[in-house]
Formats: sequence, structure tokens, C-alpha cells
Amino acid sequence: MDTESSVSGSSSCDNNGKEHVTVHWFRHGLRLHDNPALLEGLKDCREFYPIFILDGHVAGVSTAAFPRMQFLFETLTDLDNNLKQFGTRLYFLRGDPVEVFEHLFEEWGVTRLTFEQDPEPIWQDRDIKVKDLCQSRGVECIEKVSHTLWDPHRIIEENGGHPPLTFAAFNQVAEIVGLPDKPVPNPDFQGIALPFIADHDQKYGIPSLSSLGVEPESKEQASPCCRYLGGETKALKLLLSRLENEKRAFALDLSLPNQLYPDLVGMPMSLSPHLRFGSLSIRKLYWALRCSYAQIHPNSPIPASITSQLVWREYFYCMSVNNPKYNCMEGNPICLKINWYNDEEKFKCWKEGRTGFPWIDACMRQLVQEGWIHHVCRHAVSCFLTRGDLWIDWQKGLEVFDRYLLDADWSVCAGSWMWVSSSAFEKILQCPRCICPVRYGRRMDPSGSYIRRYVPELKDMPMMYLCEPWKAPLKVQEEANCVIGVDYPAPMVDHKKAAQECKEKMERIKNLCKGVPHVAPTNETEVLSYMWLGKNQDEGMQASLHSTCSHLSSISL
Ligand code: FAD
Ligand code: MG
Repeated sequence: MDTESSVSGSSSCDNNGKEHVTVHWFRHGLRLHDNPALLEGLKDCREFYPIFILDGHVAGVSTAAFPRMQFLFETLTDLDNNLKQFGTRLYFLRGDPVEVFEHLFEEWGVTRLTFEQDPEPIWQDRDIKVKDLCQSRGVECIEKVSHTLWDPHRIIEENGGHPPLTFAAFNQVAEIVGLPDKPVPNPDFQGIALPFIADHDQKYGIPSLSSLGVEPESKEQASPCCRYLGGETKALKLLLSRLENEKRAFALDLSLPNQLYPDLVGMPMSLSPHLRFGSLSIRKLYWALRCSYAQIHPNSPIPASITSQLVWREYFYCMSVNNPKYNCMEGNPICLKINWYNDEEKFKCWKEGRTGFPWIDACMRQLVQEGWIHHVCRHAVSCFLTRGDLWIDWQKGLEVFDRYLLDADWSVCAGSWMWVSSSAFEKILQCPRCICPVRYGRRMDPSGSYIRRYVPELKDMPMMYLCEPWKAPLKVQEEANCVIGVDYPAPMVDHKKAAQECKEKMERIKNLCKGVPHVAPTNETEVLSYMWLGKNQDEGMQASLHSTCSHLSSISL
């Protein structure tokens, strides 16, 4: 493109003293609000180009199935629409970033490149190459931290050069580093030329998913029961309704209502897909939660519990930042090497929601169809696949989560799988909490509406048999139009036996590992916090918490 001759758009710029032609490179951080790198790019800027480069990897596309790709492309479209309001467009490009930049630097006369830090080690190589190119071409390169609350490298530095090994230690170091930065103001494009060409859509428009060969895998995936919509505009609206929910909880002296009373069939309230792509700023959420609490309790100190879930995310990021093998068992210094089974047939039953345990199958089917499942569901299915029942490699489970979850985060997902499978983060392999797929299901889905929605074969099964339909007398099965072994599978394992065997295997590993340093939780409170079983509830809540814990610990049913 000949920029001079084909450019149109805002011409109201005063070039006096403004020297820079800036490209802002969106990767994660797909938003205009709280975007410090973008703001930096607008300083002394004469001409501004916002771009996205599809290189086959960016924002985790190499492993994403249809739902996450759909979410990403909605997010990009929303970004393009929001930029339109300022008189510019998103430039969608394809190819290897270094090659794309070699070309753009010349074509547009770029003098400055800005982007948000992508802290995970899988992006290092790409970013180093682009920074080197900038240096060789005399292009100023500005990278700013805003995907995480703290710069993970700063936490590591403060901790003496290695990541804090426990969540408590992480919190201590974070306290020394200080509260996270507050969100920066929205961008102001006044007086900056925002060139775009008349045939922008042909040259730089966002392509359709089908033109990229990305299609739904099933009719359920094409039109799911619940769907998260991508984009900053949706994220900011969702944040507002989420804050109202949090405020109601704060007024009752509760926090995390979404977690204490999981609503598995209600409208999606989760912000994690937006945090994952950066269509919502983590710092905006952090400060909004604090501010909401202060509105409700103006005279109280702000408890750490109201933002502790966000800090778990930071902890996993920080643990992974210098560990490129963080998502593997081999070569990963914090992960125990466990001799998992390799059973493709059983793995397939789990993945496809055909285990014969309706609660597990409902969770897995929702995951594949919609791309999102609640934390309690994630816990249940990951425990079942690994140390709870099937003794199958956590890396196989991670692959499935990484493909389907809208919020699949390289660091958080691998960290969570290592935790649940007792491969890391688990205190000396005591593994006291093994989830019973029958009792936990009954507890989390007391009305049965979740299971009936995702396992429609069982929609007429009476509640008393819904979580263990194989126990229903044949007559009841026939009346419910669901004969076990014909219309819905028999349970693939005897849970009581399988859980006992897994427990014995873990015991043996524990004895072998004595003295081996192992990343572990500091105490019981930390385990409960990770499992979303908080401790600041009223008496009624305490009672249900205890029974939840006791049935979690039960492997004997
Ligand atoms: P909220 O209650 O709104 O919490 C706010 C935010 O805090 C979340 O959006 C998330 O960013 C963060 N958060 C909450 N809980 C945790 C946690 N235990 N660990 C780390 N961060 C947390 N979360 C992801 O964001 N990406 C993943 O890939 C992911 N994989 C997981 C895999 C397994 C096996 C398990 C057990 C958990 C995983 N989680 C993952 C953590 C957690 O389940 C989700 O963050 C949560 O369900 C998101 O729901 P929410 O937005 O309503 O959470
Ligand atoms: Mg959330």
C-alpha cells in the first residue's frame, strides 16, 4: 500500500512536535480501557495504527476449538467497532510477526511499536525476535505490564531470584511490592492522524471463522444452551452486574457468592474468559472489587479474601514465567513424575462424557459444547481423570481443557491440573480430598436440572437415582426411557474400588518421595481457598461447608 496516496481518515492533526508513527500490537489485552502500552503509544504520536497479527499461535489459537475461536473473533470485532467510533479501524494481518513488521515498518514509516507484556514463557521467543528487529531498525519498542496485577519478574526479583513456592509466600512478597497499579485513563485520540484506507475490509478486515476453516464440531457447539459473548463492551457490562452481585454479598458479610452457591444452570456470570483475552483488565476488576467493598463497609479495612481468587491467577503466572516446561511432566522441576496409565479408551469415555457417572458426564459435555464449566465441575472432572478414579495422565486432561475452555490459560490451567492431580502444589501428597462423583454431584446439583440439561438421556430419571442411575430398578429405568447399558452407559469404574487403589498408589509415591522438595500449600486455609471453600461464612454456611468438606474427603462411598 502506498500510505501517502491511499490514506484517508482523520486529518485534524497538528503535527507540531509530534514525531511518532506508532503501531500498537494487540495480542492479549484486547481492549481500549486500562491499556498503558496503548496510552504510551499515543504520546507524541502523529499517526497511529492498531493491529492484530494472526500467526497461528497468538492468544492461544493453535490449540483452540470453535468456542474459543468464536469468542476471540467476537472480541476482535468489538475492538474494531470501538476503534471505529474514534475514526480508525483494527488492522488484521496474517503471517509471522517479524516478517509482518519488516514490511510494515517500511510501508508506514513506523517509529514506535507498543504492546502489553505477554508474561508466559511461550511468547518469549516471538517477543525477543520482534524487539531485536525494532532495535536493528531504530524503532522504539515499548512493553507495559497490564495482563497481570504485578510484573511477575518483579515478584521473582523481590523473592531473591526464584518464584515464591507457596501461595502464602507469594502474598507476602506481593505485600512488599505494594498494591497493584490503578487502571490508567481511557485513550484520547484527539489530534492524532488515524489513517485507514477505503478498501480496509478487503485488505485488513477481520475474516470470518469459516473462511479460516474453523467450524463447530457439533450442533450443540453451534447453538449451545449458554453462550459467553466476547468483547470489551460485553465485558464491561458483565463487570457491572457482577459487582452488584458482589455488593449484595458484601452487605451480608459474605464474599464470592458465585462460589459458595454455585448456580450451574443460571446465566453465565464468569469474567474469566474476558480476563484471559484481556477484554477486561484484571486491574480494573481488582480495584472495582475493593471500591465496591469500601462503599458497603466504609469504615472497615478491606479484607484480602475479596480479591484472593485474582491472586491465585497471579501465583500461577509467576510460577510459570521462568519455566517453559510448566505444562509438562518431563523436564518440569516442580512436577512429580508419576507413572500414570495410558488408557486411550477410558480417556475417550471421559472426554466425550460417557463415563456412566451423570455428574461427570454433564460437566464434560458442557465443557465441549459451551467452553465453560464452573470451578466445582473442573475440580470434579480433573480429580476423576487423575488421582480420583482413572489414574490417567493430567497432561491428557490439560490438552482437552486447553482445547475447549474459553478461559484456557497456559499457566493457570497447567497449574490447576498439577494441583488437582497431586503432581505439584499438594502438601506432601496427603491428597485427603478425593471427590466422589456421586455424592458431590448430588450436592452441587440438588435439583438435578444441570444433569438433566446436559445428559438428556436421563431427563426422566427420578431424582433419587439421577446421580447413580445404575441403581434404579429395571422397571424404573424403563419408565424413564433410559435403560442403563443401552441408552446410557453403565459406570466405567467401581468408584469405591478405583478410589481406594488410587489412594494406595499415592501412598506409595508419597513414601518414595520423602525428602524430595515439593511445592505445597502452606496450610489448610490455603487448600480451602483454592477449592473455593471460603471461611468467612455465617453459621449456616459453616455447617454446609463442613459437610461439603467431609464428603469431599470421603473416598469410601
Ligand atoms: P471468579 O470467582 O469470578 O474469580 C475471578 C477470577 O479469579 C477468575 O476469573 C480467574 O481469573 C481467577 N481465579 C478464580 N479461581 C482461580 C483459581 N483457583 N486459580 C487461578 N485463578 C483463579 N482458570 C482460568 O482462568 N483459566 C484456566 O485455564 C483454568 N483452568 C482450570 C483447570 C482446573 C483443573 C481447575 C480445577 C481450575 C481451573 N481454573 C482456570 C480456575 C477456576 O476454575 C476459574 O478461574 C474459574 O472457574 C473462573 O470462574 P469465575 O470467573 O466465575 O471466577
Ligand atoms: Mg469471574
